[in-house]
Amino acid sequence: MLKGKTAVVTGGSRGIGKAVALAFAENGADIAVIFSGNEAAANEVVAGAESFGIKARAYQCDVSDFSQTKDVCAKIFKEFGKIDILVNNAGITKDGLLLSMKEDDFDAVINVNLKGAFNFTRHLARYILKSPVGRIINISSVSGIAGNVGQGNYSASKAGLIGLTKTSAKEFASRNVTCNAIAPGFIETDMTSVLPEEILQNVKTAVPLKRMGKPEEIAALALFLASDAASYITGEVIKADGGMYA
Ligand code: NAD
Repeated sequence: MLKGKTAVVTGGSRGIGKAVALAFAENGADIAVIFSGNEAAANEVVAGAESFGIKARAYQCDVSDFSQTKDVCAKIFKEFGKIDILVNNAGITKDGLLLSMKEDDFDAVINVNLKGAFNFTRHLARYILKSPVGRIINISSVSGIAGNVGQGNYSASKAGLIGLTKTSAKEFASRNVTCNAIAPGFIETDMTSVLPEEILQNVKTAVPLKRMGKPEEIAALALFLASDAASYITGEVIKADGGMYA
């Protein structure tokens, strides 16, 4: 499905990013895995990806750092020769009610979730625009569509990412590069494993499908959006939330 294409996945060492990297590799794409701290986990994803017979490399980069991102993007292009697909997946939460939210917690979440996606789009677009079938996929959240108590910073970052998605779609359309966002609901990853059991139980009753999603279910949607089958879809936000906000 993605044979001969090169994909960059931020936050690719675990959770949804890992599932995306492995799904893309299984479908023939060469993969650059961006990780922030856990090199061993990133190397494991690289090894898993390589087992599908493609080329994979791991790159350490704090996505919120503009100049670090620039250097890493140039390095990836040098080593792979071309870049067709970018998945802006790296993200963090620092939840708290607005009345007491610390300035640092607001800034950190915006810097990783929103500015991080800007940084990678900004520095990789020049290469992706050369691809005849370029794709940018941003991992937003239903919190960015509906808002969520305790997630003022996170919701704002994910809503901002939707604006970035729609603008990228418009700016890059003339070069046949599409840009879409995925808005997951509650997915079983390290990010949600820290939620109290009571909240997790409430989540399950609020979701019509009566369960959390799996990273592979988000990866399947990313794979479709990255494929030729999605060539006429751009500027869209697609929810994958078990019906929670249908
Ligand atoms: P996760 O915590 O398992 O993964 C997040 C990844 O981002 C990690 O690999 C982490 O190292 C990386 N990362 C964080 N800060 C970084 C930085 N400064 N530079 C580079 N990498 C950094 O969580 P996940 O659930 O797999 O989340 C993936 C994406 O999906 C995030 O953007 C998240 O907001 C989004 N999302 C998750 C859920 C969910 O329920 N899990 C729901 C909606 C959206």
